[in-house]
Amino acid sequence: MTEKNRPVVVRFAPSPTGYLHIGGARTAIFNWLYAKKHQGKFILRIEDTDAERSTEDSIQGILDVLEWLGLTWDEGPNFQSENIQTHLDAAETLIRSGHAYKCFCTKETIDAKREKARKAKQTYAYDRTCRTLTPEQVKEKEDQGQAFAVRLKVPDGEGAIRFEDAVYGSIEKKYADLDDFIIVRSNGKPLYILSNAVDDIHDQVTHIIRGQDGLANTPKQILLYQALGVPLPVFAHMSLTLDPQKTKISKRRHGEMVAVHFYREKGFLPWAFVNFLVLLGWATPDSQEIFSKKELVQAFDLGGISRANSVFNINQSDPRFFTDPKALNINSHYIRTLPVEALAGPVRAELEKTGLWSPSYDADKKEWFLSAIDLIRERFHVITDFSTLGRPWFSEDYSMDETALEKNLRAYPDMKTLLPELAHKLDSLDLYTEKTVEPILREMLKSSGLKPGVLINAMRTALTGQSKGPDFMATLIILGKDRVVRRLEAAPE
Ligand code: GLU
Repeated sequence: MTEKNRPVVVRFAPSPTGYLHIGGARTAIFNWLYAKKHQGKFILRIEDTDAERSTEDSIQGILDVLEWLGLTWDEGPNFQSENIQTHLDAAETLIRSGHAYKCFCTKETIDAKREKARKAKQTYAYDRTCRTLTPEQVKEKEDQGQAFAVRLKVPDGEGAIRFEDAVYGSIEKKYADLDDFIIVRSNGKPLYILSNAVDDIHDQVTHIIRGQDGLANTPKQILLYQALGVPLPVFAHMSLTLDPQKTKISKRRHGEMVAVHFYREKGFLPWAFVNFLVLLGWATPDSQEIFSKKELVQAFDLGGISRANSVFNINQSDPRFFTDPKALNINSHYIRTLPVEALAGPVRAELEKTGLWSPSYDADKKEWFLSAIDLIRERFHVITDFSTLGRPWFSEDYSMDETALEKNLRAYPDMKTLLPELAHKLDSLDLYTEKTVEPILREMLKSSGLKPGVLINAMRTALTGQSKGPDFMATLIILGKDRVVRRLEAAPE
């Protein structure tokens, strides 16, 4: 039974055993979008029952990155480890209702049976020895202090578990292919498969949107739902994200290059990164690529999730980003087109981080700051470009590109005198505007016989250390008279 009319509740349930990678972030995004679209609740649950592998650092890292991406949750973080009693209570309920039973088989017995099956080239399945123990036998073993695990009774017979996955369609698992699986270990600890399902039941999760790797657990979890007599949620399993070699991306294989925080540090804008991630394995019928938050919430639909695995093009030959060119394209799109005021905050944070921030950019030079961002952003891909390529705009301490120097300045020895001459003329201007600067440049071109491109390249190199940059006249105006004069006078040789 699937109850369709409950208010939507979804959850993101990371295991805190490392940083959040792009596959995890994608799962979080899909859940968050689904909740937003249906005015539902988005729960963050930290699945920290594996005490050995879960760390505080990982929890903090996951929370930070989710916040950075703007994926705010409505409830949580809930910690699975705090709900162990609820998981055990559910197991107890199942025993009492006859859906589960205590299994006293020791590890040695099971191992021996497994070994025997192996030798006989048969697949091992638990032989259900303890399923038929009488209450008296159970009591006797308990009184003797024998440890027991708890196993779920898989229904007998020819039947099967059938469900409709919102992405993969009809799925069937025959009862005969399932073992009476353990839900509580003989050391008294619930198994993950139980904890995960009981938490979802407890939180009244209506839609379980998770990675395809969760599909293996689903039939067993459906048995748990049925045994506990609660309505089934909708399951939506998302296809995997692969690397260009078509292997599943993983922390182990790809290290930092698949960590979300890596992209935060590289200067990606959070929404641009969400926009990129959502396109890994999801699309609208018209393959729209750029979405505002509102548009994406409106457009998002589980039906748009593809069954085919998506590829994250880790680009090892790009030492700056290592990343999918599409991620960069989407990010630069946002850098170029966002209202400049919306970029001011991230640029400020970047300049603060790199020691290039001046409080005047938030006071008397505020307008200048916005105009500078607006001018230079046109060629930028990431926020860190503002402190690297953009450095000459915010500091006197910037580097000179050797190739540009060679090609644009040293190749023209006359520049040694022409640029200071130009500096002098510009310095004598009372009013320094495009209108007053332009005639001086024209005059210089005429008297020197230089081609405009040659003079522009020489000046640009002298002014910024680079051979490329934004609109030249705007560069002169925004850099301002003082800087232009000083830098032309001191043009390197
Ligand atoms: N804790 C699991 C993971 O990180 C999530 C499983 C689920 O969403 O049901 O893979």
